[in-house]
Amino acid sequence: MTPLLEVNDLKMHFPVREGIFNRSRYFNRAVDGVSLHINPGETLGLVGESGCGKSTLGRCIVRLYQPTGGSISFDGSDITHLRPGALRPLRQNIQMIFQDPMESLNSRHTVGEILEEPLLVQGLGKGPERAARVRELLNIVGLPARSVSRYPFEFSGGQRQRIGIARAIALNPRLIVCDEPVSALDVSIQSQVLNLMVDLQKEFNLAYLFIAHDLAVVKHVSDRIAIMYLGRIVETAESETLYKEARHPYTRSLISAIPIPDPHRNVEREILTGDVPSPIAPPAGCHFHPRCPRAEERCKVEYPSLELVGEAHRSACHLNNQLGASADSTG
Ligand code: SF4
Ligand code: MG
Repeated sequence: MTPLLEVNDLKMHFPVREGIFNRSRYFNRAVDGVSLHINPGETLGLVGESGCGKSTLGRCIVRLYQPTGGSISFDGSDITHLRPGALRPLRQNIQMIFQDPMESLNSRHTVGEILEEPLLVQGLGKGPERAARVRELLNIVGLPARSVSRYPFEFSGGQRQRIGIARAIALNPRLIVCDEPVSALDVSIQSQVLNLMVDLQKEFNLAYLFIAHDLAVVKHVSDRIAIMYLGRIVETAESETLYKEARHPYTRSLISAIPIPDPHRNVEREILTGDVPSPIAPPAGCHFHPRCPRAEERCKVEYPSLELVGEAHRSACHLNNQLGASADSTG
């Protein structure tokens, strides 16, 4: 299958300005050589703690940012260097859903105006056709037709995210980058929104890049999962494989953090301590070494490459061969 999206060795290094000459001597290596692909209709979960570069990667893919290295191709076309003026056709195919719908929805506009905007920008349809499409979108995401004349602040968090989703699907895109779409919602609302997203995916053959900071959220929606740490992918596998046979110590600690229903199960927990180090001065060698319970001397000097450890399963750890299937399996 030809991937819908292919990202190769992508880099997004932001200059850090400091000092009286305001010369950039340092770079924030938010994304530092990421390769991944997404097939049509597939969900790739992208998981890591906050500050590891997930949102930056998502914003590069939708081309809100111009990457500083590597390449992105969509449906076989290179979109890495598209100029802002040439991005309009891309917006039809790639959309984004943001974590905080209140921030991403213009509070001075009615829901009707918000949903009509992408159609207007693309020059699609006449007034009555656009109005009909807006009603259809509200219906698809389960909001009443009278929502058109209301303002975002009149809705609950879950309803606002439905508006964000309606706007994202307005142009029938093929890929949606979902940046922590349920993280700001109550747990009871999260599953409703996730279910809606899964239904829409089936109905419209959407592909998702689903960004989350904890594995529990992506578990039921992802076909494959990529784990990101400090600007790089450290492990990737099909969801089932990742949960049952995680190799990378970072992935194992993320799995350990998922609450387990049965407290008597004999599970070897690998508790993660400390924060993600700064991407301006990442630790030498394996970036994870200061927090890794298994770190050895070579980990401090040599960065491990992402190696194949099983079918479609890659891990970047010097101990790949010593770390077999994960002791922890949350089923
Ligand atoms: Fe830990 Fe070393 Fe593997 Fe990095 S390479 S995850 S420090 S064991
Ligand atoms: Mg983020």
